[in-house]
Amino acid sequence: MEKLVFRTIPGPKSAEIIEKSRQCEPPCSVDQTPIVWDHGQGVWVWDVDGNLYIDFTSGVLVSNLGHNHPELVFAIQNQAPRMMNCYSFPTPERVAAAYRLKDMLPSNLDRVFMLSTGADATEAALRIARRYSGKQEILGFYGGFHGRTYGAMGVAGSMSTRRHFGVPVPGGIMAPYGYCYRCFYGKTYPDCDMYCLKMLDRVIESTSSGDLGAVIVEPYQGTAGFVFPPEGWLKSLEDWARVRNVLLIIDEVQAGFGRTGKMFAIEWEDVHPQLLCLGKGMGSGIPASAVCGESKVMECMKPGELSSTWGGNPLASAAVLAVLNTMENQKLPENSRIMGEYLKARFMEMKSRFPFIGDVRGKGLVLGIEFVNPTDQFTPLPEITHKVVMGCAEHGVLLGKLGLYGNVIRIAPPLIITQAELDVALDVFEGVFNALSS
Ligand code: PLP
Repeated sequence: MEKLVFRTIPGPKSAEIIEKSRQCEPPCSVDQTPIVWDHGQGVWVWDVDGNLYIDFTSGVLVSNLGHNHPELVFAIQNQAPRMMNCYSFPTPERVAAAYRLKDMLPSNLDRVFMLSTGADATEAALRIARRYSGKQEILGFYGGFHGRTYGAMGVAGSMSTRRHFGVPVPGGIMAPYGYCYRCFYGKTYPDCDMYCLKMLDRVIESTSSGDLGAVIVEPYQGTAGFVFPPEGWLKSLEDWARVRNVLLIIDEVQAGFGRTGKMFAIEWEDVHPQLLCLGKGMGSGIPASAVCGESKVMECMKPGELSSTWGGNPLASAAVLAVLNTMENQKLPENSRIMGEYLKARFMEMKSRFPFIGDVRGKGLVLGIEFVNPTDQFTPLPEITHKVVMGCAEHGVLLGKLGLYGNVIRIAPPLIITQAELDVALDVFEGVFNALSS
């Protein structure tokens, strides 16, 4: 087992490269721990100063297989000399990857269109939904995030996506998500009886022109701070949409590929969307995404109405095939569920001892921990969240930080992680939380 020791952050080489970056790269990306990554292996990452970290970010929920998984590396090395890109001509690799994916999905989702980024997939889904339904309005949720493009912005409820960017693409209608810890209606679950869903018709009555064609939703909200709606919420939303003849688009760009302890998060409640967006873990490091859907919906798109220079290229497709095979052969969704239960139980126990931990939530290897003022157990504490992120990094655990109020740490290690590796990181959390308590 690798040993983690204290280090000063940033180290001298990291500091030098970060300074160089400031001279030529705009500071608009996500607020990160100030280190420069050099290389990785499995759940471990080394920075350019030679410091070792256990990666609890999976590189923004991408490296589900861990860094540089040998089977993925082999597939890429094998494919690169044959063919890397050929625009939209079908290739054996693309068609094989599409079939492999289709076979893993609920049977109603029998068409797969491969793209490169998560935003590609959500934009394509929005386009298809408008074309198929012939309607202009799409319902999205407060706190929702579907990418940094303009269509996605119009149905997003995240401040950094909308604020200061003017009028979004028209047709977006927004409603509160099932964020029980901070209920938008001030209710308490389960007494609320999912009041937020009951209010959906009122929201539509008040804000729609009568042209609602689709609803887009994340199974859990990633950017909002790993916000999980209560059990049954997504299924009830599916029912709501079906009764009203509204297409259901599920954005699993982040939640898919074993992250929540099932291959796809929709499996938890047997939800059947008409369109499903996938990305991130699909290539486990190689850009790959897809919009999948029911044939009758997808086939409304005529030749030339949806295309991509890079989508489904043979290199990415070979990578996707390797990822899907490895996920199944190594039962990674199952490992994610089992390790996630262990991790969550340990954090729940810490919550009972550290009053600045307000909420611990999640499923599989995706947990959000919300830091709050101990006196009211509610007021967000972004300062302490920052100290946790920095303290953990100084002791060798890399974390993400986000949330609507900047007070959530995002715990998302690669799905190959073992209990012994989790214990190494949990010792670091204990130490950092103890130091913050004293
Ligand atoms: N949808 C969701 C739910 C996401 O979390 C993200 C990215 O974080 C996206 C879409 C956009 O993906 P990308 O950054 O690959 O465009």
